[in-house]
Amino acid sequence: MEMMEDVVIVGAGIAGLATAVALKRVGVRALVLREIARDTSHSYDPLFKGSVTNINTGDVQQVLFSEQGIRPVHRKALLEALAEELPTDTIRFSSKLAAIESQEQGGGASIAVVHLEDGTAIKSKVLIGCDGVNSIGSSTVVRTGRASPLRAISGENMTGEPEQIQREVLEKYAENFPSIYLDVVRHADLSTISWAPLMFRHPWRIIFGNLNKGNITVAGDAMHPMTPELGQGGGSSLEDAVVLGRHIGNSIIKNGGQFVEGDMAKAIDDYVKERRSRAALLVTGSYLSGWIQHGGAKWWERFFRDRLFFKYIFGFLAGLAHYNCGNLPAASSSGKED
Ligand SMILES: Cc1cc2nc3c(=O)[nH]c(=O)nc-3n(C[C@H](O)[C@H](O)[C@H](O)COP(=O)(O)OP(=O)(O)OC[C@H]3O[C@@H](n4cnc5c(N)ncnc54)[C@H](O)[C@@H]3O)c2cc1C
Repeated sequence: MEMMEDVVIVGAGIAGLATAVALKRVGVRALVLREIARDTSHSYDPLFKGSVTNINTGDVQQVLFSEQGIRPVHRKALLEALAEELPTDTIRFSSKLAAIESQEQGGGASIAVVHLEDGTAIKSKVLIGCDGVNSIGSSTVVRTGRASPLRAISGENMTGEPEQIQREVLEKYAENFPSIYLDVVRHADLSTISWAPLMFRHPWRIIFGNLNKGNITVAGDAMHPMTPELGQGGGSSLEDAVVLGRHIGNSIIKNGGQFVEGDMAKAIDDYVKERRSRAALLVTGSYLSGWIQHGGAKWWERFFRDRLFFKYIFGFLAGLAHYNCGNLPAASSSGKED
């Protein structure tokens, strides 16, 4: 089977669904390829302070967030809210990407051909890889050597080697998070849980590396995998969606409401240029926050962590969450909006 689409998005995580919603708002229909289905849950009040517990000593440090606070949203609720915005035929289920090919169209133009595991080939004028940290197009993701149990507990896909987990260690860890984590830890079947290795991309690879080629690019973890300490991997995926939607929407407006294939490479290039430094900053801040939390028995490391970092620096880094990534332009006159 062979199909033709204007925009194909690989992956129906936060980045994939948010990008599809942003494109819909500017009048572009995108086909989202989704491996599996997800369900729903709830959201929380804003947090104005947090705490960091030293599991070895029991010492607790308070961290003050900015005046606006930080509002946690349950991932499943977010995914469902995004999916609900999309017409049902936008998401193609059981669609696992197997390979990508670029086909020359003459005159320097090219289209992407997405090959699925079931043998389907989908041609696309624009291809956006939102397939997460293990993106098929990525080879520059590195492990930190650290791992997180909570991703496993919260029902995420897991990779990595199974390891025995102690309930009391998990409970201590979970006390730093919204109370749902503690509930989940107390009721979890620990025999089925393993640690998820935390991975990231070096910031200099985000600033200088290849993140787009013609009409193909990446968003979310596929672009800027980061460790979770700032809680900004999902947030920055939403920013990607808005910025990409804005550049594609502006291209359509500039071309009188038409999706002009030849102009898409420039829109994508502008998107990547806009995102590089912001993503690299978040990756660096997250890595630093994780590194200082998890390691360091030397006196200066303990001094930095226990006396300086959480008191004076972490609040600033957490404040990076407050970022204006701009607006989407009004829907174009392409007539494709639902
Ligand atoms: C422990 C932990 C805690 C975190 N906490 C937070 C937090 O508090 N706040 C926050 O904002 N972020 C947090 N993050 C980061 C956040 O989870 C990610 O940044 C975010 O999920 C990225 O979204 P994504 O859509 O890019 O990737 P993913 O959510 O990984 O989605 C990728 C999608 O692509 C699909 N896919 C993969 N390969 C293929 C293929 N070959 N074919 C088709 N589909 C494919 C997958 O099934 C998946 O649906 C945390 C991460 C971890 C590990």
